[in-house]
Amino acid sequence: MPKTIEESFIEYLSSSLPLFQKKSVAYQFQCPYCQTSGKNSKGKPYAPSDAKGYLYPYGNTWNYKCHKCGEHQSFVKFLEAQFPLLHFEYVRQRDQLGTTGFQTNCPSLETILKKRGMLSGQPPEFRTERFHQHHQRPAVPPAAPDAPAAPKVTKLPPMRSPQQQAGHQSRLNHLMKQRQQRHQRRSGELW
Ligand SMILES: [Zn+2]
Repeated sequence: MPKTIEESFIEYLSSSLPLFQKKSVAYQFQCPYCQTSGKNSKGKPYAPSDAKGYLYPYGNTWNYKCHKCGEHQSFVKFLEAQFPLLHFEYVRQRDQLGTTGFQTNCPSLETILKKRGMLSGQPPEFRTERFHQHHQRPAVPPAAPDAPAAPKVTKLPPMRSPQQQAGHQSRLNHLMKQRQQRHQRRSGELW
């Protein structure tokens, strides 16, 4: 029988799982959830038979079960919890085989990427305020004592109208006053 993708991954993991042993159909090893100290209650190292973690085929999938702490999960969840990088690779390979997503025992690569925040339906958010905070102009350093004095800036007077520049403003003011008086006379009551 050809090796399943799960078996290939389990064999790859064997060196990372203490007391790993191949049984007739399952794989036995030290539980990564409850046997991490590697020592029993008497402080002695575990014998191979003390290992309580098992990966075993179940239907068309694989499951993990510990006979000590009772941890029980699918192979893909076990990978996600214990070997996140390998989990990513496993999902990627399953995705290529087309055996992920709806009605399979494995989430799609897209789901995993979204879950890890590596793929988002939203365009990236730019925080302009923070951007500007970080990009404020640095304070001007004080001039060194022997530095030459900065050139003096002469401030120009505000722009004047052509009439003002020609010295006609008083004439304009006079005309405006006359016009105002005519208007007041026409409306009557003042005189
Ligand atoms: Zn356990």
